[in-house]
Amino acid sequence: MSKMIPVVELFGNTIQGEGALVGTPAIFVRVFGCNLCCAGFGMPAGELSHEADDIVKSEQFKNAKTLKDLPLAKTGCDSYPAIHPACMRFCKMFDVSGLVEAIKEIAGNNKPLVVFTGGEPLLRQHDLACVIEALYRQYHFKDFMFETNGTVAWQEFWVNELPGINVWFSISPKLSSSGNPKDKAIVPDAVKSMAVAAPQRTYLKFVVDKTTPIEEVQQTIEELTRPCFNLLPVYLMPEGGVLDDRSRENAQYVADLCWKLGYRFSPREHLTVYGNAWAK
Ligand code: SF4
Repeated sequence: MSKMIPVVELFGNTIQGEGALVGTPAIFVRVFGCNLCCAGFGMPAGELSHEADDIVKSEQFKNAKTLKDLPLAKTGCDSYPAIHPACMRFCKMFDVSGLVEAIKEIAGNNKPLVVFTGGEPLLRQHDLACVIEALYRQYHFKDFMFETNGTVAWQEFWVNELPGINVWFSISPKLSSSGNPKDKAIVPDAVKSMAVAAPQRTYLKFVVDKTTPIEEVQQTIEELTRPCFNLLPVYLMPEGGVLDDRSRENAQYVADLCWKLGYRFSPREHLTVYGNAWAK
């Protein structure tokens, strides 16, 4: 049965800045809700961030009319408006046909890539699969992507079988630095379900800086790709939300790692074009 889909951001006139489809004109649909809690990001080992809780208690939050009025978080989940319960007030609720029409209106006469992100969009996979089918049948959209944490198995296989459709899975596994227990964050069967549904369009993407234990990245890749016959492409993407000397140095470090270990480099091209902001 179809339910309402809480959408915290919906915008176009931008590009997919990361991963295999970098540079592709795109509409982003940020769906509220996540099954993980990445409060460990940017914190000393063993400590959890309270930055999002502090933000939602602030005057700035109380006075915020839209997401663009909110500060970006430096620690914890960088998409906190998509997971913090207090941010539900920024959500717009859509049924399937309402979301289809909203996406079509943004697209105009174009048929851009539609990226479902979050939060964890696969928690709403049935309804989003219906959105995909309607955009495909009614308006001839063909290119879709889920940006997922890789912990929720894909079950809507029928969508992948629509002739000429391209449904991508960009999987960003969360390492121990996220603060999540490993058995919750690393789910090989879920990754395999996506690789089976979209064998040429599923890849892993890791955000890396000099503090990232590369052995853990390699071990995680091994655990997640072994059930997929080691066929998943792997991207390493430099950490860093602003362009400065530090982020350039980090990008060079990650490019060196890719050369040494045989992984692919993912830029964060939307930062180069738009800077770091909501809805871009
Ligand atoms: S998986 Fe992504 S959206 Fe969910 S808490 Fe972690 S960083 Fe945030």
